[in-house]
Amino acid sequence: MSLYWIGDKMARRKMLYEGKAKILYEGPEPGTIVQYFKDDATAFNAEKRSVIDGKGVLNNRLSEFFMTGLANIGVPTHFIRRLNMREQLCRSAEIVPLEVIVRNFAAGSMSKRLGIEEGTQLPRPIVEFSYKDDNLGDPLVPEEYIIAFGWATQQELDDIIAIALRVNDYMSGVMHGVGIKLIDFKIEIGRVWEGDFQRLIVADEISPDSCRLWDNETGQKLDKDVFRRDLGNLADAYSEVARRLGVMPNKPGNGSKPTLVN
Ligand code: UDP
Repeated sequence: MSLYWIGDKMARRKMLYEGKAKILYEGPEPGTIVQYFKDDATAFNAEKRSVIDGKGVLNNRLSEFFMTGLANIGVPTHFIRRLNMREQLCRSAEIVPLEVIVRNFAAGSMSKRLGIEEGTQLPRPIVEFSYKDDNLGDPLVPEEYIIAFGWATQQELDDIIAIALRVNDYMSGVMHGVGIKLIDFKIEIGRVWEGDFQRLIVADEISPDSCRLWDNETGQKLDKDVFRRDLGNLADAYSEVARRLGVMPNKPGNGSKPTLVN
């Protein structure tokens, strides 16, 4: 349980799950959850950690921006509305235990595994899957495993690939419009019930924590690699993405604290 305020009354709400970058609380109505974005940054399966002032606020706003944009082009997501600086109301969904990764250019684990130089354009967008298990380090898995172990059905997998490619087209286009190259990204997919029908929606978050974003001109990294590889201030990088998208003009955190007026 944690305490929070509704008007002038203190209320309790149930914490459902605490992850590395977010906390999930039970939502105000059945079928809803509240996602709270923390400032914590972790990398390399949480071996490297830090607190980045303002990161949670930025990711809350950026994820709202991308999820709303996706809904506008007909890609269903879990996002309902933003509640405040750090929280958003979402539909609760049963998360498919896969990290769905789409790559346009080689980077990260693909470059390492295949010896392809980072930034090399791929012949076409490639969708790949990791099995979500921190203890195992989220291993890359072939589709055969996913079906055989029942993590998703063949039909779901086909739908997941179609959703992932639509998200890729949307995200690539939006980013291109502000001079940023979408190298790769990760999404998570949830199942929701609508009457007797089950359908798949984009869940979790879409933010620079889960994308690789490079400036078109300079190649400057504007994503979590800034933290992973000690390339500078992470909140500055995320603020730059938010600024270009017109999401948030200023860096939140210390710089935006209210000042006392005498
Ligand atoms: N990614 C993520 N969470 C993970 C693993 C990867 O959000 O647990 C994102 C990562 O930020 C990148 C893309 O998925 O945008 C591909 O990551 P990659 O497989 O190259 O792994 P990494 O090099 O980050 O270990």
